[in-house]
Amino acid sequence: MPGLTESFVGSIDQGTTSTRFLIFNRDGEPVASHQVEFEQIYPNPGWHEHDPLELVSSVETCIEEAVKKFEEIGHTRESIKAIGITNQRETTVLWDSETGEPLHNAIVWTDTRSQTIVRELRSRKGAEDLQQICGLPLSTYPSSTKLLWMVKNVPKVKEAYDKGRLAFGTVDSWLVYKLNGGPAANVFVSDPTNASRTMFMNLATLEYDDRLLDFFGVKGKIHLPRIVPSSDRKSYGNISSGILEGVPIMGCLGDQSSALVGQKGFYPGLAKNTYGTGCFLLYNVGEKPVISKHGLLATVAFQFDGKPVYALEGSIAVGGSGVRFLQNNLSLFKESKDINELAATVEDNGGCIFVTAFSGLFAPYWIDDAKGTIFGITQYTQKGHIARATLEATCYQTKAILDAMEKDSGHALSELAVDGGMSNSDLAMQIQADLVSIPVYRPKMRETTALGAAIAAGLALGLWRNFTELRDINRAGGAVFEPSVPPEKSAEMFALWEKAVQMSKGWVKK
Ligand code: ADP
Repeated sequence: MPGLTESFVGSIDQGTTSTRFLIFNRDGEPVASHQVEFEQIYPNPGWHEHDPLELVSSVETCIEEAVKKFEEIGHTRESIKAIGITNQRETTVLWDSETGEPLHNAIVWTDTRSQTIVRELRSRKGAEDLQQICGLPLSTYPSSTKLLWMVKNVPKVKEAYDKGRLAFGTVDSWLVYKLNGGPAANVFVSDPTNASRTMFMNLATLEYDDRLLDFFGVKGKIHLPRIVPSSDRKSYGNISSGILEGVPIMGCLGDQSSALVGQKGFYPGLAKNTYGTGCFLLYNVGEKPVISKHGLLATVAFQFDGKPVYALEGSIAVGGSGVRFLQNNLSLFKESKDINELAATVEDNGGCIFVTAFSGLFAPYWIDDAKGTIFGITQYTQKGHIARATLEATCYQTKAILDAMEKDSGHALSELAVDGGMSNSDLAMQIQADLVSIPVYRPKMRETTALGAAIAAGLALGLWRNFTELRDINRAGGAVFEPSVPPEKSAEMFALWEKAVQMSKGWVKK
């Protein structure tokens, strides 16, 4: 492709605990990057917030710093031709549609404060039909219930709502809006992978559905972003200021869809699991959505050139955040990676099962009132057993989700592709292979979430023309973890986990 061989694509990866900006070449290799962490705000138990303005400034800092590094190694900023965005999903930002000022902290996807609202909504007529339309069951997780909580409890939000000035967005919409310069440019869009997490979008048409908007009582009352394809040359506008002023944004994917794309899960039957703060398994089901009968979500994998591709999704609320809990709350070690050394001091979990249900349990259980609980403690129990049980908790839930996917899709997976912070743990990945009895594949370059958004932007740009051209990207040098225990042993361990799950629920008065 003359003129484009020296082109690069930037990728904004706005995650739950940190923001990154990576610059990829045409071989899908990151040549420069920068990462910053930002404040996690926990005002009450079960509540979790981010400052929307800090999210934007973290993106700006990462862009500035990464581009500086990029230039230091001899490249020019002009060779960055397009930008993709990937972001934490469901996290809800509300702002004044006229001034662009945020009206409250963003409510993060893990936040469970909308429990009472969810219980009330579940008893409303039509509640049972929602999942057929939008792919998600009612829970504290999607953006809709977080929005309703703010309308009900935050006077500034209610005022904007009453005046018709309430703009609602997921983090992608917010970033695109602000990076374009806010109200002056008023670029207010979202892609189907993000919009499918709000409960407002019809999964089949990729448009907002009046039945959904009516159910939540927001039809005609809030400003919603226009839904445009995940890969799009025009709709996402341009960066309005800073070191990359004028560079177009051409790709947008919710983080989990982006990781599936980054793992090149383009075709039906391919799956990936990302072990980040939470843990997310996505399974490509092709051009028709599959509505789960086994506690999974139906979502959009990506929409590149017209036709959407769908996925079945299983999410685990606590993945790496279980590691962080041992690190920060229990001071068992100083850095996340140290959990592995501690867990390796013991042969097995010593009979300990840790149900890490800090925010209830997500797929496939969906138990809102489960609480974190450790079972099987005796005088024999050491710190190492707790560390091991923490890693195992994520792996057990992954197994439960894979079982559900097998039932919904009618066939078994042959391999699981993995990424995310916790996939750095060889021990956790070996435990995972042992529990699911299939090989676990971990690519060498694990910034697959960022790579996915770069691919979305690069496809719109024409840097890559099709999936075939992407085939060899990030293939060399990966690791494969083969199952090393007999399936009967895994089944025995899993049965104990299932028992512990049943015992962890019912801690909140109904
Ligand atoms: P997010 O994108 O959700 O912010 P990341 O993919 O960056 O998350 O993953 C961060 C999580 O991974 C943290 O919770 C951290 O504790 C965990 N983690 C990072 N490295 C390791 C490791 N070597 N072993 C186990 N857990 C790890």
